[in-house]
Amino acid sequence: MLVPETIVCVDCGGTCSRLSYEPDDGFAPGAVVAYRCRDCGDRWDLVIDDDDTV
Ligand SMILES: [Zn+2]
Repeated sequence: MLVPETIVCVDCGGTCSRLSYEPDDGFAPGAVVAYRCRDCGDRWDLVIDDDDTV
């Protein structure tokens, strides 16, 4: 599964950097990937879903 390096913060529109390192064999469906917003410091946990193209 491909997950983005960054996502857009829902709260402030800033950039959230990925905190979790990608495993060698990639993220499995159901894995939780954590992001931290550079602007407001909020943490976002993204669940990798099989039928959800990120
Ligand atoms: Zn933010």
